[in-house]
Amino acid sequence: MAAQTRTACVALGANIGEPLRQVEAGFAALAALPGTRVTARSSLYRSAPVGYADQPDFINAVAVIETALDPHALLGALLAVERAQGRVRDFPNAPRTLDLDIVLYGDLVLREPGLTIPHARMLERAFVMLPLAEIAPGMTVPGHGSVGDLAARLDAGSVAQLRRIPA
Ligand code: AMP
Repeated sequence: MAAQTRTACVALGANIGEPLRQVEAGFAALAALPGTRVTARSSLYRSAPVGYADQPDFINAVAVIETALDPHALLGALLAVERAQGRVRDFPNAPRTLDLDIVLYGDLVLREPGLTIPHARMLERAFVMLPLAEIAPGMTVPGHGSVGDLAARLDAGSVAQLRRIPA
């Protein structure tokens, strides 16, 4: 019998090397995770760096997945994908080849030292909330409300939706 699956959302970001290609590779890597399917993917967005400003703009996107992986297994798998794509952790908010964050995992609320769900900074990040609202506006952020309503409150000025590149 198939394992029970949950709906989760993963944010993708990259800003060094070939960010467009790396985010595309990130989507492919998500689809290849065990017991996991990508059920929706946002457009690609370009955003100004947050925190450490002297670095290139980011390419961001969000995926909705159905996964049989539990949250810790999913985090482990995402970190392995980041490593495989050559990410080096130099300092907080440093440029990165690929960053993968669990944004939501069903209606789970988890606060552990190594894993916080919903993602701790998602609500203030237009580069997460806008792509998420594009594909899952009716989804609920536990304790906060609908993705669409929460995204509408953010300043969208620092984030630009890129045109879909024809397949
Ligand atoms: P960063 O990639 O700089 O956002 O940080 C990655 C680290 O944040 C990981 O090693 C995780 O232990 C931790 N972390 C906490 N909550 C999350 C989450 N929801 N998704 C991904 N990483 C998380």
